[in-house]
Amino acid sequence: MEELIAAQNVKCDNPTSLETVSKQHEDRSLGRITEEMVLVETMPDGVLVADDDGRILRVNASLARMLGYSRQELEARKVEDLLPTRFNRDHAGHRARFSKRHGTRHMGMAQDLFALHKDGREIPVDIMLSHTHMAAGHRSIAVIRDASEMRQIQALLIDNEKRLRTIVEGIHEGICETNSVMEMTYVNNIFASRLGYDISEMVDHSIFDFMDAESASIVRSKLECRRNGNTEQYDLSWRRKDGRELWTIVSASPMFSRTGEFDGTVAILTDVTERKLAENYLRQAKEAAETAARSKSQFLANMSHEIRTPMNGIIGMTDLALETELTSEQRDYLQTVKISAESLLTIINEILDFSKIEAGHLVLDLVDFDLRDKTAETLKLLMPGAHEKGLTLFLEIATNVPQFMRGDPHRLRQIILNLMGNAIKFTPRGSVTLGVQPDPDSGDYVRLHFAVQDTGIGIAPDKQRVIFERFSQADNSTTRKFGGTGLGLAISAKLVEMMAGRIWVESEVGQGSTFHFTVRLEKSNAD
Ligand code: ADP
Repeated sequence: MEELIAAQNVKCDNPTSLETVSKQHEDRSLGRITEEMVLVETMPDGVLVADDDGRILRVNASLARMLGYSRQELEARKVEDLLPTRFNRDHAGHRARFSKRHGTRHMGMAQDLFALHKDGREIPVDIMLSHTHMAAGHRSIAVIRDASEMRQIQALLIDNEKRLRTIVEGIHEGICETNSVMEMTYVNNIFASRLGYDISEMVDHSIFDFMDAESASIVRSKLECRRNGNTEQYDLSWRRKDGRELWTIVSASPMFSRTGEFDGTVAILTDVTERKLAENYLRQAKEAAETAARSKSQFLANMSHEIRTPMNGIIGMTDLALETELTSEQRDYLQTVKISAESLLTIINEILDFSKIEAGHLVLDLVDFDLRDKTAETLKLLMPGAHEKGLTLFLEIATNVPQFMRGDPHRLRQIILNLMGNAIKFTPRGSVTLGVQPDPDSGDYVRLHFAVQDTGIGIAPDKQRVIFERFSQADNSTTRKFGGTGLGLAISAKLVEMMAGRIWVESEVGQGSTFHFTVRLEKSNAD
């Protein structure tokens, strides 16, 4: 720039001095040529200029160094001398064809190129070749780069790729790679064949072409999570070519470009179709069984209710008839009718209760009550039966049990009646004791521990668990000897469970049994 300004100044100061101007132009041209020569000389790539016959006219220092020759040695040779012999035969033809075309091209795109070092070694090279017309004739100019390092890296990459491919192909799972817009860029044979397609029918297609709308929305919802760099696992259903469903567990990992942008997903797909079908089948079977159980319980509840009304009629009318004047024989008959009707009603009530609990219709009350009053009342009901058998009844309530609490006294009484009733039924002589203790660690609630202890026939160890199941009795002969439905304990167990407690028995055959149960009640404000 300064040179140019200087030249213009010269022109203005002395417009007639053309000689001076042209001299300065010449100097500038020479300067540029020198600069270009320096540029070529200091280039790390080798440079070679040859004529149409392949004679080497000029080389730079880098090429001489790369091939182990002196510059003079090279400038006395032909291009073909620098090629391994296997390329030599066709080279003159290639050169002649190329010199007819102008422009620049990158050689060796389809094959690896090599130059021959003076010591006979082959050096991998990349060559950019241009052809130009100069005053002295046609010239080919080659820029030659030592590609040894690049080829080593390429070879390493190819080896690595081969190794990864072997690993990937060795995984006996479906694999699928998608780009950032969910087009499939790779699927393995296992995945394609599981869906019934050829690989070529899947690659470049959108992943959404192989699933229904519901699965597509799952995939879309997961995409955001992956964009944030998270790997995830989820169940996904695909549509096979034949329309059937393929269920897979998808383990999807995100891929990112070198600049950190989301580049797609690679997913491993494990076929779980059989497991899913089995699960669906089981779920449907369970739902059907639950529906059947619910309708059975509903039916039982309805029936028991319908039977209870006429039974109450029978009992009420029998009571009224018993109040009239009767012969002792008639009184006897009616007493038997009354006792039979009452035990039938007990059975029906038990069935009704159990059905209600099974159908999920039983709701517990929440009222304030006095535990000592309620237990005393309950025991009074049992007195006549116990007295008849000559049994003593004891009630032992620990002094630190609160007087008032909140819960369902009616259902609590039902449990006590059942356990005490059984104790009396299965105890030929001795006593039955109801004990109540507060449970330690009651916290915000009142937790009570009840124990009904008898001196009766006891229960064999192998029966101690089954008796809490519905319709089960410790001994099949029990029904004939003692009566009963085998529902009482099952109902008690359910009620205890609803009161957040548990029930269990300790017993020894011939020595007696103790039935324990705990319940959780609310604290009362009346206390
Ligand atoms: P049920 O008494 O109507 O048969 P439960 O469910 O109340 O039905 O009792 C189931 C069975 O448990 C009884 O048939 C009996 O075999 C056994 N059982 C319950 N309580 C006692 C007890 N205190 N002593 C001995 N056996 C008992």
